[in-house]
Amino acid sequence: LSHVYKDIKRGRHFKVLVNPFGGQGHAKKLWETIAEPIFTAAGCTYDLTYTTHRYHAKEIARDLNIRLYDAVVSVSGDGVLHEVINGLMERPDAIAAHKLPIGAIPGGSGNALSYSLLGEDHGSHVTNAVLGIIKGRAMPVDLCSVTQGQNRYFSFVLQSFGLVADVDLGTEDMRWMGEARFTVAAVGKLLSQQTYPCELSYIPVETNVDKIRAEYNYRRQQSVVWADQTHDELDQSHPTIVDRFGGVNAQLNKSDGWVTDSEDVITAVGAKLPWISKGMLLNPASTPNDGLIDLIVFPKGTGRINGIQVMLGTETGEHIYHDKVRYMKVKAFRLTPKNASGFISMDGEHTPYSPYQVEAHGGLISVLSI
Ligand code: ADP
Ligand code: MG
Repeated sequence: LSHVYKDIKRGRHFKVLVNPFGGQGHAKKLWETIAEPIFTAAGCTYDLTYTTHRYHAKEIARDLNIRLYDAVVSVSGDGVLHEVINGLMERPDAIAAHKLPIGAIPGGSGNALSYSLLGEDHGSHVTNAVLGIIKGRAMPVDLCSVTQGQNRYFSFVLQSFGLVADVDLGTEDMRWMGEARFTVAAVGKLLSQQTYPCELSYIPVETNVDKIRAEYNYRRQQSVVWADQTHDELDQSHPTIVDRFGGVNAQLNKSDGWVTDSEDVITAVGAKLPWISKGMLLNPASTPNDGLIDLIVFPKGTGRINGIQVMLGTETGEHIYHDKVRYMKVKAFRLTPKNASGFISMDGEHTPYSPYQVEAHGGLISVLSI
């Protein structure tokens, strides 16, 4: 394997962030008993910070001397990574900051990046994640900009509205159930046939599921799916972080190819990762750097049986072939809720219940991957 790993520096130096509250308090123990001993045995060194409050990881990423480290490593879930990415992107040197690779050790209750990097069977295994960080290469990964009200921030996992957001954020009182709470809540919502009024606009690139799948298979053959790209390729396509389609407050420009649906939905989710949680392959044709967002919509009026079928299908990704599901590749989308209150989830974090627009930016971040 030496030819594959010839560019790997031995004994990397990391900034490590451990969220002691991540994953119901397991992150600290995972770090001490599994991750830290492997780092040390591999000759790696680190600066460690236990996060003490919300946005702590963001503050650290914003002020970090990135020249000192080979990567910034999070031991928590997607929320801490969301903060690290937003901290890096807020820097005046954000274009340089995207070159600081990110390493994810699954220590939270939502670890979409680890599942997507390592696959469902291995995504929760701390040792696999640690090996990826010690030996892996930096892979360019797309990032979404989100504009909402007067704010602009970044999302790397998913932007969800309707059932998926409710299940993600509206089930805190069911935490005692562990991960089963997501399934129980989703089944309950599907049986109640709750729908969510909204207006959804998007710029489609491909809406035919067979063609989306074919493109994915092609990329897979070229091994550009969640593997094996280097920084040299990233440098060739210098990323832009300017929103090409205006923000959420701009008029939709017809010449950009916007399409608008005003029908209520059961859920509408934009995503940049295939697995959004354990056992949920919501976006099976998602690739890390096609520069596009996977937009999945489950429209209203689908019936209970179809709803349950679709949910079961998300275990394997088969649901995208269900005739009630719309699965497409888009450049950008805008969602405007038409009722007063509810949940919108950005990478599993709460955000205000107000219109938002999401746009994909190619290869803006860099993720360590075997
Ligand atoms: P999980 O997957 O378990 O939810 P996340 O990585 O998503 O883990 O983190 C959840 C939240 O915890 C994030 O919003 C983060 O800002 C917050 N957080 C980080 N450190 C602390 C702390 N010491 N106390 C409380 N919350 C924290
Ligand atoms: Mg979280």
